Amino acid sequence: MGKNLNKYIKPGSTIGIIGGGQLGKMLAQSAKQMGYRVGVFDPGEDCSASQVADFHAQAAFDDQESLAKFANKVDVLTFEFENISLASLKEIVDDGAYLPQGTEILRLTQDRLTEKEFLRKSGIPVGDFSPVNNEEELIAGIKQIQYPAVLKTRRFGYDGKGQVLLKSEADLVEAKDLLHSAPCILEAFVPFKMELSHMVVRNAQGQISIFPLAENIHHHHILHQSIVPARVSKTVASEAYQVAENIAKRLDLVGIVGIEMFLADEGILVNELAPRPHNSGHYTIEACQYSQFDLHIRSICGMTLPQNELLSPVVMTNVLGQDQNQVIEEWPNHPDWHLHLYNKGEARQNRKMGHITQMADSHDPILKEFDQVGIWLNNN
Ligand code: AMP
Repeated sequence: MGKNLNKYIKPGSTIGIIGGGQLGKMLAQSAKQMGYRVGVFDPGEDCSASQVADFHAQAAFDDQESLAKFANKVDVLTFEFENISLASLKEIVDDGAYLPQGTEILRLTQDRLTEKEFLRKSGIPVGDFSPVNNEEELIAGIKQIQYPAVLKTRRFGYDGKGQVLLKSEADLVEAKDLLHSAPCILEAFVPFKMELSHMVVRNAQGQISIFPLAENIHHHHILHQSIVPARVSKTVASEAYQVAENIAKRLDLVGIVGIEMFLADEGILVNELAPRPHNSGHYTIEACQYSQFDLHIRSICGMTLPQNELLSPVVMTNVLGQDQNQVIEEWPNHPDWHLHLYNKGEARQNRKMGHITQMADSHDPILKEFDQVGIWLNNN
């Protein structure tokens, strides 16, 4: 069974989420509020989402039999991360599981090369790139793209993992090591002025709802803060909006996608797509009428989509493993911090343990306060 255009999944039905991390948890919280039952499929015994869900199928992601059993117990399936086995998912969809998002979006976004080729073919602006499978192609790619460039594994990279920045020939040794571990893509290094993202939701009827533009600050390739609305000109904002709308249409999107963009000298360039809720969209829980999780659920459950206003300027700050204890100590003194903790167990260095959302009439006092608290200045 493929996409069913008019299937209204009513409250009381069961939503099955593949993946039980914080995104799964927040999806489950939103679904529970709307009156759905929630099942979570995840190998982790005490994963974040299982703490909220009605039931938890604890099995490895490649355990086909357990996945099929899980699919049989739910009315609609979704996923909170993109690196699920495409073959497994196709098999359960062929056997009748209802996955309104379809599998094509995963095929496109699981591989950086397929994704970039799709974007380029769709007329979406991207930086220069070249596939690299061996050392000859690496040298040829550098000739075409020039230094500086970034070599990335095509699959399974996140938060800067599986990436080598090539500034000169001296970096070739490290690049070759990466290349020997997996097929890669070489990208031009974009000397961006800012990183931006849009969360976009579309439903099967073609309605599109685009969340306000976020300005994203990364530390060591990990998202640190999202500042919304992004501090950009109207022209840039409308260019980014257009890019987001076009991507949703070209993908024939059902559900949500996160679009990571660079603001470069030549305008907007798309870096990456995330076919799921995204860290840079967490601000929507408090600062929009509907959160990214709410609208994803409305979409996959066959409902119309509202347009979404930003209620207030907002800053979202991530709480990483090294920040968590200090944040918990500080929290009582900050009634304006909306603290979300994901209950993920061990607070390892750079592990995303939670986030704080803060709203005010303008960004400056919020940013100043975060600097004064000092936790992030000291830990990053
Ligand atoms: P990614 O895993 O592709 O999202 O990359 C993580 C981060 O690395 C991005 O948010 C950027 O800060 C940086 N980055 C990735 N690719 C490039 C690029 N081609 N040029 C400049 N910076 C990049």
